Amino acid sequence: MKKHYDLIVIGGGSGGIATANRAASYGASCLLAEQDKLGGTCVNVGCIPKKVMWHAAHHAANFSKAREYGFDARIKGFDWQRLKIARDQYIKRLNGLYGENLNRNKVEVKTGIAQFVDSHTLSINQNRYSADKILIATGAYPSLPDLPGAELGITSDDFFALEQQPKRVAVVGSGHIAVELAGVYHALGSKVHLLARKDRILKEFDTTLSKTLADYYQRDGIEIRFNTQISALTKNSNGRVDIECEDSAQLSDFEQILWAIGRTPNTRNLNLQAAGLQTDAKGFITTDDWQNTYVPHIFAVGDICGRALLTPVAIAAGRRLADRLFGNQSDSKLDYNDIPTVIFSHPPIGTVGLSEKQARARFADNLEIFQSQFTPMTQALCEDKQQTVMKLITTGKEQRIIGCHVIGESADEMLQGFAVAIKMGATKADFDNTVAIHPTNAEELVTLK
Ligand code: FAD
Ligand code: NDP
Repeated sequence: MKKHYDLIVIGGGSGGIATANRAASYGASCLLAEQDKLGGTCVNVGCIPKKVMWHAAHHAANFSKAREYGFDARIKGFDWQRLKIARDQYIKRLNGLYGENLNRNKVEVKTGIAQFVDSHTLSINQNRYSADKILIATGAYPSLPDLPGAELGITSDDFFALEQQPKRVAVVGSGHIAVELAGVYHALGSKVHLLARKDRILKEFDTTLSKTLADYYQRDGIEIRFNTQISALTKNSNGRVDIECEDSAQLSDFEQILWAIGRTPNTRNLNLQAAGLQTDAKGFITTDDWQNTYVPHIFAVGDICGRALLTPVAIAAGRRLADRLFGNQSDSKLDYNDIPTVIFSHPPIGTVGLSEKQARARFADNLEIFQSQFTPMTQALCEDKQQTVMKLITTGKEQRIIGCHVIGESADEMLQGFAVAIKMGATKADFDNTVAIHPTNAEELVTLK
């Protein structure tokens, strides 16, 4: 017998869970289908385990400075396996908490692959369920290149399953995941080669950020090879992997290759045709500003939409959609402008608004750039002084801030408050009129000349 709901959510990741919980809070009857673990990418193979690894890497970097602060400390070693066990236990707790919350909110959860039978009906474990409204929140998975030997490399999903730390590793890619995991491996002691197919890393970001990070990584001992297109991977007689490049260069003897070359939208099991839905050329589900698909009662949020692939974006879009559909808030939708982002590199990057290139394209020369480079106080006693770089971009006579970019210690924690101000339309004068908090790194942003 078919069971009917107000809302069926496909995908128990950041976007799906947030939407189901919010819809249920308005009294909607909800079913959520998840084929794997609750929490999706962020909790299981994304933000959370990544941030644990970033913290470990951050500790390693701090230990190396302990002597300069007067400690006679010796680190006897680093136990990757012990960290992994603790990390896995933490994530298991989170999986349980997500389940408990859904249960408390009376969202029914089915474990299994959901597949469209028609535009109102889904099949899950051979049972049929229908709904007035359906949400697709199926996320994305790591892409693999189509080249000989690609299967010899691992992806970010596999990274989080590693029981041992590789000594010599090549990270292929130059985006978020590539620079974050390259930084973690390096700080924890692996020899890292970062292979970027173009002449930059973090191509979508302000050049000041990407150039500064590349300089720091190279100075710290990460080998960055730009303009590197890989043509094949092969296993050598030592059981290690060799890389052939299109320019005929050979890079040899890697214990591990990590592909970090983007993500593929996850529609593989959905049978979208049965619902009358299609994907765009890259496989994402097209939605309008209101998360509507082409089929009036089917919606999509999160990575599957291909816009700002971030957990808080999936959550915010989902909650606003539920507010609109079930909470009587007809104008509720997510504004995708000025979304703040942090790259958990070493040092971290915090950025909100337009890069200088984007700002010039939109506002031509009606711009002013304020930039500062300084030694943060935590590094003042250290021989190796990693500088912090900050950049504000303003437009117009009123000097409205349209871009704020920081690379350096604490950039990750610094940016959220500034993002509020920028979202509210802050000007340079608003920043300058704010009394600085001293001595901090953040104070530089309100004293830029
Ligand atoms: P997901 O979280 O991917 O959830 C989709 C769920 O749908 C999955 O659980 C999947 O199993 C399920 N599913 C798919 N198809 C079906 C089906 N047919 N039936 C049933 N279930 C199905 N973002 C940040 O904001 N900050 C970070 O620091 C950050 N770090 C990241 C690090 C890594 C290594 C990665 C990979 C991503 C990171 N992200 C980060 C991105 C973030 O994880 C995603 O943007 C977010 O998880 C997207 O949520 P979602 O709900 O759209 O999809
Ligand atoms: P990104 O889109 O950030 O980067 C993908 C990279 O892969 C690009 O640098 C691209 O190069 C490169 N690339 C694509 N195809 C190939 C290929 N065939 N060979 C070599 N390189 C290739 O994707 P990620 O996978 O790093 O991350 C996915 C998403 O997850 C991000 O968009 C981000 O939204 C989210 N994320 C967020 C994090 C955070 O907020 N801290 C952390 C991690 C992920 P090129 O630039 O030259 O085109």
